[in-house]
Formats: sequence, C-alpha cells, structure tokens
Amino acid sequence: MRAIVWFRQDLRLEDNPALIAACKDAEAVIPIYIRPIEKKSAWPLGGASKWWLHHSLKSLDSDLRKVGSKLIVRQGDCLETLLSIIEETGARRICWNRRYEPKSIEYDKKIKARLLELGYQVESFNGHLLYEPWEIKNKQGDPYQVYTAFWNQIHSMKEPSKPLNAPKQIPTPDKWPQSLQIDKLQLEPRIKWDTGLHAQWIPGAAEGRKKLKTFAREDVEHYASERDRPDHRGTSELSPYLCFGEISARMVWHALQGVPKSTDYRRQIVWRDFAYHLLYYFPQTPNKNLKKKFDAFPWQPDKTLLKAWRKGCTGYPVVDAGMRQLWGTGWMHNRVRMITASLLVKHFLIPWQKGAEWFWDTLVDADLANNTMGWQWVAGCGADAAPYFRIFNPVLQGERYDPAGDYVRRWVPELAGLPSKWIHKPWQAPDEILSKAGVKLDQNYPRPVVDHESGRRRALMAYEKIKGGDRAK
Ligand SMILES: Cc1cc2nc3c(=O)[nH]c(=O)nc-3n(C[C@H](O)[C@H](O)[C@H](O)COP(=O)(O)OP(=O)(O)OC[C@H]3O[C@@H](n4cnc5c(N)ncnc54)[C@H](O)[C@@H]3O)c2cc1C
Repeated sequence: MRAIVWFRQDLRLEDNPALIAACKDAEAVIPIYIRPIEKKSAWPLGGASKWWLHHSLKSLDSDLRKVGSKLIVRQGDCLETLLSIIEETGARRICWNRRYEPKSIEYDKKIKARLLELGYQVESFNGHLLYEPWEIKNKQGDPYQVYTAFWNQIHSMKEPSKPLNAPKQIPTPDKWPQSLQIDKLQLEPRIKWDTGLHAQWIPGAAEGRKKLKTFAREDVEHYASERDRPDHRGTSELSPYLCFGEISARMVWHALQGVPKSTDYRRQIVWRDFAYHLLYYFPQTPNKNLKKKFDAFPWQPDKTLLKAWRKGCTGYPVVDAGMRQLWGTGWMHNRVRMITASLLVKHFLIPWQKGAEWFWDTLVDADLANNTMGWQWVAGCGADAAPYFRIFNPVLQGERYDPAGDYVRRWVPELAGLPSKWIHKPWQAPDEILSKAGVKLDQNYPRPVVDHESGRRRALMAYEKIKGGDRAK
C-alpha cells in the first residue's frame, strides 16, 4: 500500500511515530508538508516562526534525501491538498502526529472524518508530548490546574515510551507528485531583519540532537543553580527545536535518563506537557482568562507604553535587555520573560494578550500552549498562577539574576560603561558616574517610563477591584 506521512510540528525522522508507521509494510511513502492558508483569527505563524520553519523544512528535506526520499511541499487548503496528492499518488493510507491547538484539533477531526468517509486509512499518533493530555486526570476525573499535582501524577506513571529509531531507508513512489520549492512559500522576511537569528541559530533536527547531547553531557548538572541566570548560558535553549518537533520531548526525557542532577530539568520539560494539558482542556485560554474574575480587571491599554516595551526602551535595563534580546535573536531567557511580562501587565496595566501577541510574532519558539500559560501565569489569571499582588521589582530582579550587569551590557550597549552598582538603576547614579559612562538620561537612555512604586500601587489598586471574585473555572 502507498502511504502519505503528513509532517506538521514533527519536522524530524527520529522518534516520529507517524513516519515509522507509514514506512511499515508500505510499497511507497510520500512525505508531505502543507502550508495551510491561515485565517486571520487563528494565531497565524509569526515572523520569527516563519523564518525558523523555512530553514527547518530545508533541513527536513535534506534529511529525507539521505534516506532515499524527499519532502513534497504544497500550499493551500489542507483537505483539498491531501485529496489531490492522494489522487496523484494512489495512496490509501495517511499518517500524522497529533496537534493540540484548538483550531488544529478542529481541522484534523474534520479532515480525518472526511478521509475515513472516502474509505482511506487514517492513523494519528503522539509525536509531540510525553503523555497525551487525556491520559492525565485527577482523582475526580478532572484536568489538573496545579502543577505540583500534575508532576506527582506523571511521576507515578510508567516512563514515557522510548524514542523510535529513524528509518534507514524510505520506500519511494515510481512517480513523485508535484512539489513547490520551499522558497515559494515565502516564509523568509522580505526586509532583512533576520541577521541576528542566523547568527544565533541553526534550525534543524541534527542541530537539535547535537545541542541535546551536549546539554545532557555537560550542562544539565548545573541547571538547578544556573537556570535563572540570563547572564550565563544556563538553560538548554532547546525550545525552538521542541516547538517545531525537530527533537521530541521523549528524546529529551530519555537522553537524561540516569544523568545525575537532572530532576529540575525534567520538571521543566513536564511544564510543557502541563501547558498542553491546559490548552487541551481550556481551549479558550489563548485569548481569554482562565480565572473568570479577571474578565472584570480594569486594564488601561496604552499604545505609547506598549511601544516602549516592544522596543526595549522602558528605562528598566533588565527589561530593555530582554526585549532587545528577543528582537535580536528570536529568544529570551525564561527569567527575563517573566520580568518583562510582569512589567507590561502590572506596572503598565496592559492586557496580557498584547504581550502574548508580541511574543508570538517575535519568538522562534512561539508555542500556543507555553506562551498562553506563561502569560496567564504572570498576569495572575492562569492555572497555578503567581498571585497578582506579587509584583516584581525590575531593579531588584536585575540585581539578583544579573548581578554584575553583563546581560544588560550585552543587550543595552549604551549602558555598558556603567559600574555594576548602577547598571540596573542608572537614573539613581551620580552625575559624574553617568557622564564618565557616556550615559545621558532621556537622551541616549530613558528614565523609567513608569516609576516602580507608583506603578506597583496602581496595579494593586486595580487588583482591589476584582479581588474576592470567583476562583478558577
Ligand atoms: C510570558 C512567557 C511566555 C513564554 N512563551 C513561551 C513560548 O512561546 N514557547 C516556549 O517554548 N516557552 C515559552 N515560555 C516558557 C519558557 O520561557 C521557555 O520554554 C524557555 O525559556 C525556553 O528556553 P530553554 O529551552 O533554554 O528552556 P530550558 O530551561 O532549558 O527548559 C527546557 C524545555 O522545557 C520547556 N519549558 C521550560 N520552562 C517552561 C515553562 N515555564 N513553560 C513551558 N515549558 C517550559 C521548554 O520546552 C524548554 O525548551 C514562556 C514563558 C513566559 C514566562
């Protein structure tokens, strides 16, 4: 039988259950990628994700060629495209790994139903998560909303299954269906803003595997003490590889098997499954608060403040460093994601969705489940969220996690000459220190656009208006 394997968020050959299943007993396998025509409302791919996808597809095609195959690339409505490839190839079997975004689930269900109706064999698999969202429920049969309980349950379960080997050879059809050149998908930016991305990243499964191996061998044992330090390279930076499925969560889990001091890291990987669990059971959350009482929160959207935040010109050095790292590389350290997000939703009172949209557009690891959970967590309206009244002080956060100011010096070069003592609060530095460092407040670097104390008070007053509302729904 001829089989189609439909690649989506699983751009790898190793531990790819849909690909392995398609290859089993198949006379020929046709690997395809369809760039869907996206509707405006459905979180269409952001600019940084498109950049990554372009390179990731090239890498996947090259990996497929090494095992005798190639990637067929199309653009259009997914069902129509699948039907047309089925007609061109005579395939009877279609395999894919599941997606979990609400819209994707809806599309996939429709597509599966139609293909089954037409008499084709359709099989879907878990290629993305350690466990399927529906495999984990609390004693009452409800989804979890508290991370520790989720983690404890995972810990009591059978280990995630072992990663599958990549096929050594893929059987090919006599005649290939038509394919677009990857360039024709126009995923790369027309205006050249991606130099920093090229300098930072090599998309593709080979690089993902390499990074994972090095991290497991050399870095994971320092993860617990280093993971909150944006001035060091203390985290794995595997997020975009996981996001595009160039490596799988199971590969990560098993690469750490038996590695001493890897529990903290595994806990972090399980946060990703938790985020998918939440997205699956609360599909409204990419746009709406999980805790209903936040629907009445008196946000005060302000375009000028939003612009200052996006551009990394808030006057808080650690925040500005983070926002510029994001713009420059498509990635931001987790601690700094929390600090920057907190400033936006608390000091600036800008709705978390505005921040989530910017991250979505600029992150190479933009992931609807993780991004939604991250933003709702910071805003206080999500599952297991930080209490709203706990408001980060961006100066103290900077001093604690970037004590010498190296992270700020790297991303905010106009402050590079300041001594560590003042680098997180230049507006408090004596004039002679500023002038020696070449810092001219409000000329080459702004004072804080919102003062911490007054911003904090304003946020707490806003919270008073909804305090005592109902608990998570
Ligand atoms: C406001 C906000 C927005 C975020 N948006 C995203 C996003 O769009 N995409 C994304 O992948 N992560 C997001 N995160 C989570 C986290 O910041 C990143 O996963 C992490 O910084 C990626 O770097 P790393 O691979 O070096 O992480 P490591 O610390 O090395 O962790 C390894 C992996 O575990 C997972 N992970 C780690 N921390 C978290 C977490 N808190 N939540 C969910 N998964 C986690 C990721 O897949 C990560 O790659 C967000 C966090 C916040 C606070």
